[in-house]
Amino acid sequence: MKIKCDVCKTEYTLPDVSSGQVRCAVCSNVWTPPRTNRRSGLMVFIASLCALLAATIFAVAVIITSRRNDPNKRPLVAAITDVTMVGDTETPQISVKGTVTNRSDDIYGLPDLIIVLYDASGAPIARQKFMPSATLLDAGQSVEFSHVISNVVPGVKRVAVELLETESKGAK
Ligand SMILES: [Zn+2]
Repeated sequence: MKIKCDVCKTEYTLPDVSSGQVRCAVCSNVWTPPRTNRRSGLMVFIASLCALLAATIFAVAVIITSRRNDPNKRPLVAAITDVTMVGDTETPQISVKGTVTNRSDDIYGLPDLIIVLYDASGAPIARQKFMPSATLLDAGQSVEFSHVISNVVPGVKRVAVELLETESKGAK
């Protein structure tokens, strides 16, 4: 700690633990410097507590993020219940029916849905976005959707539905 002679203003550096009187080497003034401030110790304690708290919040945030990335923990789940070929051979169409279920305890806004068409090798060959009929889904509720894909590309072997990733839209 730094102390200053209150007569001649000469500065000295003392170990933090020192206490008692000191004599100035320049002017021989004797005085009692203030003891190491206890508050600075408290500040260090608070600072380390804050650091610990920040680390805790960070860990929680990481857990929440990884949960959101886990498909099994997503609040909204879309599933196809029926795929039917409609239209004629000239203009083939695929009718896709399914449901979106809200598995959470919160109300969620429904994002756009995406129908993905896959070929025999499992590669996606077309994606079509459409809006579901409902905009909000209550906790535990399901809503049905139905969409007809008109410009069907050849070679479709599998149809899947995805939710557009806009979970921040969720109205809590
Ligand atoms: Zn002095």
